[in-house]
Amino acid sequence: MERILEEAVRSGRGVLREGTVATYIPELAKSDPAALAAACCGIDGSIRSAGDTATRITVQSISKMASLGLALNICREDLVFSRVGVEPSADPFNSIMRLEMRAPHRPQNPLINSGAILVLSLLPFRDSNERLEAVLGVMKKMSGNNHMSVNEAVAASERNTSDRNRSLGYFLRSVEAMEGNVENILDTYFRQCAIECTVRDLAVMGATLASGGVNPLNGDRVFSSRTSIILRALMQTCGLYDGSGDFAVRVGFPAKSGVGGGIMGSVPGRAGVAVVGPALDARGNSIGGIRTLEILSEKLSLRVL
Ligand code: GLN
Repeated sequence: MERILEEAVRSGRGVLREGTVATYIPELAKSDPAALAAACCGIDGSIRSAGDTATRITVQSISKMASLGLALNICREDLVFSRVGVEPSADPFNSIMRLEMRAPHRPQNPLINSGAILVLSLLPFRDSNERLEAVLGVMKKMSGNNHMSVNEAVAASERNTSDRNRSLGYFLRSVEAMEGNVENILDTYFRQCAIECTVRDLAVMGATLASGGVNPLNGDRVFSSRTSIILRALMQTCGLYDGSGDFAVRVGFPAKSGVGGGIMGSVPGRAGVAVVGPALDARGNSIGGIRTLEILSEKLSLRVL
């Protein structure tokens, strides 16, 4: 197993030069484009890893699985999906175009930025801090790592430069698709995206979804099996945005990416498989990470499609 992980990371390193780290969030420009790591956590809780496993990244869009899972834990499924769709968008993660063109002005799915911002607005908390604590709490339960915390420098960096996400939030409110204080909702969004993790955390989070919502390290139930099915289905169809189809062909299991360079994969009934590699392709997905997962999927027969 270790040998296969190492071989996959070695192969992933071969394409790192073709990618670049995210710079639209200035603080992310400091990430190391040469870092690459992979980890696998079986649903029996056994963890194996290879590469630069000490690398810490921010989860970015991977946090959308925790906030959506939290919404499904608290609100009725039909209510959530009356406000946000479940269809792939084939557009970049921060696109505004389809939101305006189609009535009702409902985000296409909860994993693009507009959808994730809307999902946060549905959560019944008093303020941004309470909402953030709840999302962070779910992520800690998914990873079994109680020390997860927000990198406030990354959160501030995004808050100071996020004209696009602000536009999405105010647009949603202007067409009455979303209610609430946009700045407070965005504050939670920026901070949940800036939660720090390692490749091991991501692998355990993926394993929690793979095992039907039960954390394999401590046996805690985080989500119902129905919620895990919904989260995995959306990861499969929308998890890598406009790169989801290509990922399905090349790798073939549900996964969620983030512009910090993480990808959290979940192979139902078997394992969480994750990579960390901040060099991104043109769609904002880890370029070395996808290559690494492609090799792991083949060598470990992880394909579910
Ligand atoms: N915080 C990032 C943003 O809103 C998350 C995007 C991503 O990881 N794809 O732009």
